[in-house]
Amino acid sequence: MIRDKDTLNVLLDTVSSYVKERLIPNEELVAETDEIPADIIQEMKELGFFGLTIPEEYGGLGLTTEEEALVVMELGKTSPSFRSALGTNIGIGSSGLVFDGTEEQKNYYLPKMATGEVIASFALTEPDAGSDAASIRTTAKREGNVYIINGTKRFITNAPQAKVFTIMARTNSEIKGAHGISAFIIEADTPGISLGKLDKKMGQKGTHTCDVIFENCRVPATQIIGKEGDGFKMAMKVLEKGRIHIASLCVGIAERMLADALQYAMSRKQFGKPIAEFQLVQAMLADSKTEIFAARSMCLEAARHRDEGKNVSIEASCCKYFSTEMCCRVADRALQIHGGSGYVADYAIERFYRDVRLFKIYEGTSQIQQIVIARNMIRNAQV
Ligand SMILES: Cc1cc2nc3c(=O)[nH]c(=O)nc-3n(C[C@H](O)[C@H](O)[C@H](O)COP(=O)(O)OP(=O)(O)OC[C@H]3O[C@@H](n4cnc5c(N)ncnc54)[C@H](O)[C@@H]3O)c2cc1C
Repeated sequence: MIRDKDTLNVLLDTVSSYVKERLIPNEELVAETDEIPADIIQEMKELGFFGLTIPEEYGGLGLTTEEEALVVMELGKTSPSFRSALGTNIGIGSSGLVFDGTEEQKNYYLPKMATGEVIASFALTEPDAGSDAASIRTTAKREGNVYIINGTKRFITNAPQAKVFTIMARTNSEIKGAHGISAFIIEADTPGISLGKLDKKMGQKGTHTCDVIFENCRVPATQIIGKEGDGFKMAMKVLEKGRIHIASLCVGIAERMLADALQYAMSRKQFGKPIAEFQLVQAMLADSKTEIFAARSMCLEAARHRDEGKNVSIEASCCKYFSTEMCCRVADRALQIHGGSGYVADYAIERFYRDVRLFKIYEGTSQIQQIVIARNMIRNAQV
């Protein structure tokens, strides 16, 4: 749903200009230094990027899912690390509170997340629980007015910068699966929390992940999000919305990679003419354009359906599955079009090729999306 076309167009123009004028020129620096310059982070905060989806009453822009998808497609036309710096605040780090937080929790945390003063991370994955997230072992044992948290969370995006974590932990060890899990909002400086060393990732330099370790970490019972036992359900709601977000991001990145490949194909000459004139190269351009159009249409349709209050479990997974796989196929073709120059780091495609590989893995792998789609199809056919 687009609430006001003119207002949205102003925002899209702002994002698009900022991407072209500030972010694209800094992509290489971020890749080399593995850091996003502090002035860029500050500018993105001032532009309101950290609060894009946080409801207006808590200081954000309260974008609808369709508006968010369109904005993220613009933000995708540069190194994905820039989006990642704010991605947890406008997505998996804040959504749990937005969906199920108490008024007190929302009033306290969301305005700070919207300005970027507080960075929020989402901590579900563990060393022995990735795709099988319902098997997490981190425990939250109630003792009077506190929960005592013990366990290790793995690969947590923005953990080194985070001031709060939305974490899932097992409050009832008698219940083995999803129903024994609860969600908490925990401040990063709570005694008993420590961070592991930074993960050495293959791409997306400038974004950092690491383990978050909880050792007898005492958290006031008021920090629970929603009811005891509802944490897994909340996490799945968060990830479902996140799937449309990541899928839309992949559309933007694929558009950027294809634009770069087209430019290269039109300027690079072999056999006396631009390689863009060879039909086998044209096939790679056309296949990419077609798949991007398909993914874009899927994302916007799913986003509109979500805004209408429809159940989008299948659609969100279809979007994440198709769009992330599409993005990797486009990366491969775009690199191929660049020939040997695509394999060396002189062109952005070498970096994007590594960056986009992550999208098929996190927030539910492609295989998990396939399982969600098929499982829902079977369930729907049974009623
Ligand atoms: C850079 C990065 C950032 C991340 N950020 C976060 C974060 O902020 N918060 C967070 O909680 N997590 C985060 N993650 C974790 C991410 O969500 C998990 O890595 C992902 O869910 C996969 O889990 P796994 O790595 O344990 O792989 P596994 O679950 O061990 O899977 C390995 C392979 O087996 C396949 N597989 C597993 N089960 C099945 C099945 N039933 N059927 C078919 N195939 C199956 C998978 O698809 C995959 O191909 C991040 C990961 C990375 C790499």
